[in-house]
Amino acid sequence: MESMGCCERCGISAQRRRTPSDTRQVARGALHSKYTLYRRSTPDRQEAFQLQDLTNRFKEYCRSRGADLVGIASIDRFDGVPPEHHPRSIFPETRSIIVLGKRIARGCLRGIEEGTQFAIYAQYAGNWVPDRFLALTTVSVAQFLEDRRWEAVPLPCLPVQAPPMGIPVRPDAPTPNVMLDFDEAAVRAGLGRFGLSGEFMTPQFGPRQQLQIILTDAVLQPDPFCETVVCDECGECISACPLDAMNVSQPETRIVCGMAMKTARVDWGACRSCRNGAFPNRAHPTGTPDRTAALCVRTCVHHVEKTGLVANTFERPFRQRPAWRVDKTGAAGIVEG
Ligand code: SF4
Ligand code: SF4
Repeated sequence: MESMGCCERCGISAQRRRTPSDTRQVARGALHSKYTLYRRSTPDRQEAFQLQDLTNRFKEYCRSRGADLVGIASIDRFDGVPPEHHPRSIFPETRSIIVLGKRIARGCLRGIEEGTQFAIYAQYAGNWVPDRFLALTTVSVAQFLEDRRWEAVPLPCLPVQAPPMGIPVRPDAPTPNVMLDFDEAAVRAGLGRFGLSGEFMTPQFGPRQQLQIILTDAVLQPDPFCETVVCDECGECISACPLDAMNVSQPETRIVCGMAMKTARVDWGACRSCRNGAFPNRAHPTGTPDRTAALCVRTCVHHVEKTGLVANTFERPFRQRPAWRVDKTGAAGIVEG
């Protein structure tokens, strides 16, 4: 049973003090020094200490329930976001936005990389990772918060491009459904940044993850913004595209929380018709297509592993043979070089 009790003074898990005898002494020492530091600090620092300790235990729980990535943004990081995409339009008491991520196993891309099996990605990575595995994590984490009397609103990853679908029910309320930009929320929560391809990328997995969000009225310690370079602007994703759908000569700049990230201009119409491993948006036809298994992003997966830009690496390189491509005329061929 996961511990819920806390020491009144320091917020350290009561269960943490009930360690096996061989580690009891070490645990007592750690607890003592932690408490001594706590007792000598100012009330402000004590509050910060409790917040950090609670947040650490919360993140431990998220990981124990299967999250590979956990990022926290405070609500002020959404200042300036319009009401139709703002967390407080869904839950006005929101104080923290939790972004949970689960990796897409590299093997889920293998069938498409070899050009022989497209259903593996569609089923495991496109469907089961978000709708089964990550959804179970999200529900468990929401229960963790609600067991502690904090409300937790789980959000599946729906496309921010979807148009309004109803009528406003109050004069000051936006039209339902309010959609958050999940990738931008993940940037605000410190999980990663946008690559030149326009894909959200993390230092752990590059472009290989699915995300879900929990809005809560609990106050948790926000994470620092991601400063790690994951995209080195190599341009390989752009030159790999057989439909010339990405244009870097006219780049766009995405600004999130004051951070400017350069991205190529993307012809989403071309990506929607792409036969190189892209899939239509599952939730709405206006949503951006899923490009994780497309030639552009698979090329990126290979590049960021090869150059050591991501932590999750493998015994063998991802790309074992020259890539295949289906060009604008619908003809299949092998990419030269
Ligand atoms: S392929 Fe290179 S330029 Fe494109 S997103 Fe990946 S790292 Fe960035
Ligand atoms: S999804 Fe297809 S068309 Fe779009 S950028 Fe990637 S390879 Fe090009």
